[in-house]
Amino acid sequence: MNLLALQTVTKRYTATDSPAVDKVSFDCEKGEIVALIGGSGSGKTTLLRIIAGLAIPDTGKVILEGNTLNSPTKFIPPEKRNCSLVFQDYALFPNKTVLQNITFGKGATDNPDRIIELMEMADIVGLGQRHPHEISGGQQQRVALVRALATSPALLLLDEPLSHLDPELRESVRNQLIMLFHETRTTALFVSHDIEDAMSMADRMVVLREGQTEQTGNPDELYRRPASRYVARLFGKTDFIPAELLQETVHSIPGKNDLGQVVPVRPYQWRIVDKDFTGIPVFHGTVKSVTNRAPHRELLLDTGQLQLTMYLPGNHVAKCGDTLSVIFDSEN
Ligand code: ADP
Ligand code: MG
Repeated sequence: MNLLALQTVTKRYTATDSPAVDKVSFDCEKGEIVALIGGSGSGKTTLLRIIAGLAIPDTGKVILEGNTLNSPTKFIPPEKRNCSLVFQDYALFPNKTVLQNITFGKGATDNPDRIIELMEMADIVGLGQRHPHEISGGQQQRVALVRALATSPALLLLDEPLSHLDPELRESVRNQLIMLFHETRTTALFVSHDIEDAMSMADRMVVLREGQTEQTGNPDELYRRPASRYVARLFGKTDFIPAELLQETVHSIPGKNDLGQVVPVRPYQWRIVDKDFTGIPVFHGTVKSVTNRAPHRELLLDTGQLQLTMYLPGNHVAKCGDTLSVIFDSEN
């Protein structure tokens, strides 16, 4: 059964602006980790706030564990919803200790063993008597998480849980989160604008664009078969090559302004070949620039008709003005 269901949820902040959330529908199954991704202003936070009961949708339904939380005729207040929201800035009480923060929620002290267990899992056992300003950003993040889990919510909502962490910490906190989700069998819906976080943590992704769902699917599906240029670009630099210039069998999507079909190609999918290579379409071009983007060297190849962005394999040297021949290697 679906734990959470959203049905054509729409929210406008002002009558004149376009809706922040526009007829959004998706589900979360029990135990699933779902990532809500999209650019800034695409409606991610608004959606989480609607589910948590902190914002009221204009139309549509939110259903959690079979109970309607929101409908045109109904509104269940936040404290009566079986879900917890971890805010982007953690929203810890600065004048309360870590332990007081964690046990603040309604019912949080019902099960002291769970609190201890959660604090152990999150590696914050020794920090109970400190105040938020006396612990690191990563620790604050885990305190906020334990606080949210302390009330044993059916659904955990997280707004950009890793956005304040520096890259080194990010990786380890991300792994800890994955472990914690699995060990506590949590159903989680988390917001991210970082594709790497979403790819590594989520069972399924919902892509939002200007308040609307652009595509849903598992990370691999979205990566291999993006439905649009917007989704393809979430995964980093992408060239869009007119489909008629490549083999017919590859996945293609509508081009700019819906003109023709294009194939999304990633920088490492271009393979250098001999200039008289035959069999599949070859692109011949002149190197326009070589940029060091450790661990890659990124190269811009101008074919006259197209600009191709590619990574230079370690065993190759190339400089501006060189000519190169490349093919699209979809297996890569
Ligand atoms: P995201 O979290 O994806 O960056 P938000 O949900 O915060 O996006 O915002 C979606 C849209 O709604 C944006 O255009 C934003 O400017 C607008 N918005 C968000 N909160 C408010 C508010 N309280 N009042 C008016 N407009 C808002
Ligand atoms: Mg946001």
